[in-house]
Amino acid sequence: MSDNRTPVTVLGLGLMGQALAAAFLGAGHPTTVWNRTAGKADGLVSRGAVSAATPGEAVAAGELVVVCLSTYDSVHEVIGPLGAALRGKVLVNLTTGPSERAHETAEWALEQGTEYLDGVIMATPPGIGADSSVLFYAGPRAVYEAHEPTLKLLGGGTTYLGADHGMPALYDVSLLGLMWGTLNSFLHGVAVLETAGIGARQYLPWAHMWLDAVKGFTADYAAQIDAGDGAFPAHDATLETHLEALKHLVHQSEALGVDTELPKYSQALIERVIEQGHAGNSYAAVVKAYRRLSE
Ligand code: NAP
Repeated sequence: MSDNRTPVTVLGLGLMGQALAAAFLGAGHPTTVWNRTAGKADGLVSRGAVSAATPGEAVAAGELVVVCLSTYDSVHEVIGPLGAALRGKVLVNLTTGPSERAHETAEWALEQGTEYLDGVIMATPPGIGADSSVLFYAGPRAVYEAHEPTLKLLGGGTTYLGADHGMPALYDVSLLGLMWGTLNSFLHGVAVLETAGIGARQYLPWAHMWLDAVKGFTADYAAQIDAGDGAFPAHDATLETHLEALKHLVHQSEALGVDTELPKYSQALIERVIEQGHAGNSYAAVVKAYRRLSE
């Protein structure tokens, strides 16, 4: 049954590598695995995977070579010595790292005669294989398209971002930043309400209601930012109004003995943009505080 399916090699059987290999295996792909520390392949081998003794042996068995290790340094440690063994293979790197390392690895792969796709995983190991899970890829379009059905086994929301190998890393940090900023704000709110004896679960439906509203705000702000005219019309509230409300959040947090660093940071951002003449503009104007080059 698996004869006409692309043989896949997975280098790295950490929490994520094991989930990736299991998804390929579950779909009937001949799957060869390697991990630095022996033993992590055992569960996969019992389900039909082949455990290779060395990275070279593993790479020789696969047409699609997926690498998922802790860092790009570890990736180069493992694949660096392989050289010619990778020629003619498609290397898919799902290790998290900065865009410049993705570019550097793409150049290295080109020198080896290896096709290269760089990717990031916007899911945790239990989400691998789910229809809703998103993985981003970049690299030569023809290479991506040739292997898209196999790559989609890892997540139904798999998306190709174009030829620039650095692009997945940029989406990755943008979305992770969104996660941490949102989580920190959520936890700050939890700490405020806790002072009144209100538990996190009681807060949750209201937090979700408000997150939905914030999603609506971002749609308008994205359009204003992309318009590129610097107008930032305040359809909802001016920055001056935001500033007063934020001062209230700082004051209330202080009065309750809750940490004020996060609201004070937001206050300082808004004040900086107001000083640039944006008191009457929408919150979208705060993007100027984040840009390295001012408009
Ligand atoms: P992990 O469980 O800590 O596994 C790390 C893997 O890297 C292990 O297979 C480890 O081998 C290997 N490794 C580390 N240094 C090595 C070296 N110098 N030489 C050879 N192998 C080396 O981490 P993970 O959760 O699988 O994450 C792997 C990658 O996926 C990371 O880049 C992570 O950011 C990314 N990712 C993870 C998640 C997640 O939720 N877990 C989500 C998205 C992206 P040993 O077993 O021998 O230590």
